[in-house]
Amino acid sequence: MAPHTQSLPYIRAISPYQPGKPITQLARELGFAVDQIVKLASNENPLGMSPKARAAVIEAMATLSRYPDDFELKHALAERSGLGVERIVLGNGSNDVLDLVARVFLAPGRSAVYSEYAFAVYPLATLSAGAEPIAAAASDFSHDLEAMRAAIRPDTRLLWIANPNNPTGTLLAYPQLKLFLQALPPDVVAVLDEAYNEYLPPAERVDTTAWLAEMPNLVITRTFSKIYGMAGLRIGYALTSAAIADLMNRVRQPFNCNNLALAGAVAALDDHPFVAASYALNRAGMEQIVGGLKRLGYGHIPSHGNFVTFRLADAAAVNQRLLKHGVIVRPIAGYGMPDWLRVTIGTENENSRFLAALEASA
Ligand SMILES: *Cc1c(COP(=O)(O)O)cnc(C)c1O
Repeated sequence: MAPHTQSLPYIRAISPYQPGKPITQLARELGFAVDQIVKLASNENPLGMSPKARAAVIEAMATLSRYPDDFELKHALAERSGLGVERIVLGNGSNDVLDLVARVFLAPGRSAVYSEYAFAVYPLATLSAGAEPIAAAASDFSHDLEAMRAAIRPDTRLLWIANPNNPTGTLLAYPQLKLFLQALPPDVVAVLDEAYNEYLPPAERVDTTAWLAEMPNLVITRTFSKIYGMAGLRIGYALTSAAIADLMNRVRQPFNCNNLALAGAVAALDDHPFVAASYALNRAGMEQIVGGLKRLGYGHIPSHGNFVTFRLADAAAVNQRLLKHGVIVRPIAGYGMPDWLRVTIGTENENSRFLAALEASA
């Protein structure tokens, strides 16, 4: 009997996460130089990372023989959020903290509710814990809070929400979201994933950390992978009650965040000009790409993130032709959206390359 057949059936049932195609892989396939390729597939920051964070990372190289010390980052996040350090959980990317929440609350015999077209990691983290993911139908590609509430079963212990959501870019109105969370059964923990929070215009953004005071079942997650431009360093965090943070910390690997990521994150938090420049570039790039898509006759879902999802009849074929032009975007057939592609907002030049390649690929 082959040993792998003795693995847990719910692990065998998992279909792997499909990442954006790496630049180096396409370069190898096409015989292109790496710098000829435009990758707009993984919602990375086209400006790279903050120069201050980069300097801090280089300095932290001198510490690599020592185990990491997360004191500084936890305190920096505590100061910024106004929450105590006992309410903060650091992760190897926010994906790691999503997994920690799943491990704390899910197991075979339990379920977690998420929305159709929501981030692929939610069903993955749910299945990895042996629990059953329940997809609530979306409404107009957005989370349908009524449908999510109706999908909650007696065995449901977790509910996943991305706001803004990836890959659709939709944003739930904060007043409705707050009412929804307030009315959740107390035995259901809500994970509010705010990976794209910093891309919202300040006037549209609500500081959801204030909700934690009245919602002991809320876990807010944020990341340094998106506007902070540190996807490759792998660092993110959760803000929650002290009791939930304590449990997440018990299942966390003691040194899940490395020295370079910790040092980079501390410096990145203070680099306000870099965050402002990234935000401004994204606003301008969103206009450029949405304008281009309209000109070329493609419909799109209005997006609140650093990416936009657009509709085309032959998405798979167009994607293949874009790749031949050296442009990588993200097919989202795996999300049940076979007629759509998701493009990350790049620099002005990258956006132009994408639009020209799209025009030539039609
Ligand atoms: C990119 C993304 C994350 C962040 O992942 P990291 O593990 O922090 O790199 C989390 N949630 C959503 C919805 C995302 O799109």
